[in-house]
Amino acid sequence: MDSRLDTGRLRREWRTMQAMLGIYCSGHGHICPPGQRLCTECAGFRGYAERRLEKCPYGPVKPTCAKCPIHCYKPQPREFAREVMRYAGPRMLLRHPWLSLTHFMDKARRVEHPMAARRSRSDRD
Ligand code: SF4
Repeated sequence: MDSRLDTGRLRREWRTMQAMLGIYCSGHGHICPPGQRLCTECAGFRGYAERRLEKCPYGPVKPTCAKCPIHCYKPQPREFAREVMRYAGPRMLLRHPWLSLTHFMDKARRVEHPMAARRSRSDRD
């Protein structure tokens, strides 16, 4: 099945999320079902994050979720995402330096609300 997450920036974002979740899950000694790389709770969050990313209104120009003015996550998964980022963020540098660097660069980008971006695009046209 084709997915928006198969290409470009969204693919990289998705890989970063999965890498961070893997670091968080194994670092906390969570028990994974046989043949799985994540425990049930972390896998549940991964499914939620995947759906959010697939529906992200920014598409391939999305900011990091932490800097997003919309923030489409519900409060509980949002808090879980924060916990994962706090734990895995510093560890990413050693384990996935390229993903870590590109995530850092994405964080530094200026972010506009999609409605404002659409308005300024139509003003220019
Ligand atoms: S939080 Fe913002 S950037 Fe992240 S998926 Fe939701 S809308 Fe997109």
